[in-house]
Amino acid sequence: MAQHGLDAPRPMEGHGAYNRSSSVQAAGLLPAVALLEAAAAELRLPSPPQALVVADYGAATGHNSLLPLSAALAALRRRIGRERPVWVVHTDLPDNDFSSLFATLEHDPERYALDDPMVYWSAVGRSFYEQILPSASVALGWSSWAVQWLSRVPALIPDHVQVADSRDEGTRGAFARQAGEDWLAFLAARSRELVPDGRLVVVTMATADDGAFGYRPLLAAIEGGLKALVGDGTVSADEVLRMVIPTVGRSRADFSRPFAGSGGHEGLALDGLDIYEAEDRIFAGYRTDGDAAAFGARWSAFSRASVFPTLAAALGGADSAARSLRFMDRLEAEVAARLATAPEAMRIPLARMTIRKVA
Ligand code: SAH
Repeated sequence: MAQHGLDAPRPMEGHGAYNRSSSVQAAGLLPAVALLEAAAAELRLPSPPQALVVADYGAATGHNSLLPLSAALAALRRRIGRERPVWVVHTDLPDNDFSSLFATLEHDPERYALDDPMVYWSAVGRSFYEQILPSASVALGWSSWAVQWLSRVPALIPDHVQVADSRDEGTRGAFARQAGEDWLAFLAARSRELVPDGRLVVVTMATADDGAFGYRPLLAAIEGGLKALVGDGTVSADEVLRMVIPTVGRSRADFSRPFAGSGGHEGLALDGLDIYEAEDRIFAGYRTDGDAAAFGARWSAFSRASVFPTLAAALGGADSAARSLRFMDRLEAEVAARLATAPEAMRIPLARMTIRKVA
């Protein structure tokens, strides 16, 4: 990213904001929990005294990991009894809010090791596009709503903040190439980390089979909001041009391409790839209560917690921290107001899959 002077991506908003405003992700990941339970039930357990390691790649501040990990730990406990220690490793980028993660693990009412003193946890602050755990150490992996984030911004997007809505072929190509490279790098690193017959369950943003990335009303509201902020001088047009959300929705073909040859990829096999659409529960709430303002506010809070810090990274000036906060507050209000005028269900295409290390 040196050529644009931006880091990419920025972490989720800290201090509990992501934990509070990620119900969309919490609902979307549910259909993948069954895959994780099945993986825990089926994988070949490493023999003691090798530690039984469960890794959570892209944990953010942790709340959304609690339910899937509770399910996985219960499935493992049915096989190994209560005495064998399990080591859970949560990973994220170095500037993730790890303090909030640890507070969640310690205090959240839904925490996973509530009555299981033989579960230990730790965290790693390094990009999952590299090997970040010892070779052949991870029996079971989970990664939810994380590998859609590219390792870097491959190009500025001239006409949008999200490449899915861009009409610029060169930019689309640059993002597609980066998405391909990053998927290969992610798989290669996990291949080294998994034990023989270990499993990794991935749930991530996807492009639906009809080509849709989803979130159309939300992306339109963000574009409209940014224009309004240029209009009132909160940000400059040049700063908006430098705002990029470096996420991609890979297609079914994109996920499977590395596995196309016989014998899988990097000693990995892809099982049960499924593209599905999460229900927009925020819209479902609106249908029940008719509260358009709440619909707008909840979707806007979702985008603030997950992508506004990345947009704010484009802001310059000596007071950039204060400007970032002002910018995020203003954009959140603009997006909420726009969405409230005509609530519409978002499409939320996701992929779930199990990746197995061939023994
Ligand atoms: N798993 C949680 C959180 C997802 S938020 C859930 O399902 O809700 C996405 C997380 O992925 C963020 O915390 C972000 O910092 C992290 N992430 C993005 N790129 C990453 C990378 N290269 N390495 C590690 N974590 C990454």
